[in-house]
Amino acid sequence: MSPVTQAVRPTVAAPAGTARLTSGRAPGFGSHLADFGPIPSLVAEGLLEELRASGLEGRGGAAFPAWRKIEAARARGRSRGRRAVVVGNAAEGEPLSSKDLTLLRMAPHLVIDGLLGVATTLDAGSIHLYGPESALPAVARALAERPDARAIDLRPSAETFVSGEASAVVSALAGRRPVPQDRTVRLTEAGLNGRPTLVHNVETLAQIALIARFGAAWFRSVGTATDPGTRLVTVSGDVASPGVLEIAGGTRIGDLLGFAGADTAALSAVLVGGYHGAWVPAAGFSANLAREQLAPFGAAVGAGILMALDARRCPLTLASSIAGYLAGETAGQCGPCVNGLPAMAEVLHRLARGDRNAGLPAEVRRLAELVTGRGSCHHPDGTARFVLSTLTVFAEDVAAHLGGRCAKDHS
Ligand code: SF4
Repeated sequence: MSPVTQAVRPTVAAPAGTARLTSGRAPGFGSHLADFGPIPSLVAEGLLEELRASGLEGRGGAAFPAWRKIEAARARGRSRGRRAVVVGNAAEGEPLSSKDLTLLRMAPHLVIDGLLGVATTLDAGSIHLYGPESALPAVARALAERPDARAIDLRPSAETFVSGEASAVVSALAGRRPVPQDRTVRLTEAGLNGRPTLVHNVETLAQIALIARFGAAWFRSVGTATDPGTRLVTVSGDVASPGVLEIAGGTRIGDLLGFAGADTAALSAVLVGGYHGAWVPAAGFSANLAREQLAPFGAAVGAGILMALDARRCPLTLASSIAGYLAGETAGQCGPCVNGLPAMAEVLHRLARGDRNAGLPAEVRRLAELVTGRGSCHHPDGTARFVLSTLTVFAEDVAAHLGGRCAKDHS
């Protein structure tokens, strides 16, 4: 790990425990300054070194090292003499996720601090914050509270599943359809109007604001070596207290479900990673929510989305409904996605509804393999991953359907 080049001297005590992003007492600027203190004016190298040492990865789903994207945009801007664009992305798209909306309502100034800190590091020419309509009033109020944020351009995001994909965000900011673009050049090289463009998730920016204040060592003081710090997760489904939680990186899945009030003994599985994710069966609840422990299930931490499933509910009925939704969310650009996803969802639907044709599972698998890697974005791949995981984890339910003996709740 690189040494930290600049000592961080916070003016207030760093948050203790796992409530960090969520430790503020109120969303207003006065409360924000009292709780966290002013953001220090770290020079560009200082912030990048802190971020590198912290091990912070993007919280939007791709888990790319946060510092590396900033460095790439900075290097490109310098070599081409073009000022960068910085975008805070709160377009979750995913129906199961509400962490970014919650963060913008609870702690908008942490996001703004992160956005301004990164923009300063890049000497950015423009700064944008892109998020759902429902979050904008809280953000607009926060922006109006501070003169240093006047340059931030606030833009409403589209309410579609693929709208949060980085190239779709840039497309929307350019006034075009908010759909993913077929890209051979990275956005950090040529994005909005051909300028180096950094798109960071808003939780990533808020984490940057805390690391700039309290340093990499503090960030790493919770979590694990491979998943340091805290992260926001959205827990839904068959739990008593669904909602957004801030947890230490690498928390055990069973513990996390318990925090949300789940009776883990009553669950058959939990969907990790949202509608593009994969199922972790109950036998895997002892695994940590961490890359290496989720990999055997084909799952990833992603944007921190978990949906619990009660063992009495039919997983195929639920999966069929989700696959149908995803099939309707293609951006209409790529043939395999436009035609393949509805076909795959239809076959899964037949299986869920009691069609006992023994060839249906193989047909679902064939279609899933057909669409994988064939789109301009990862929508077909993510949808196929979810469907294949359903067939694997719920193989007994598939057999029960084909045998006409599924007695689970199909509502
Ligand atoms: S793969 Fe699907 S969602 Fe992605 S760009 Fe193509 S049509 Fe749109």
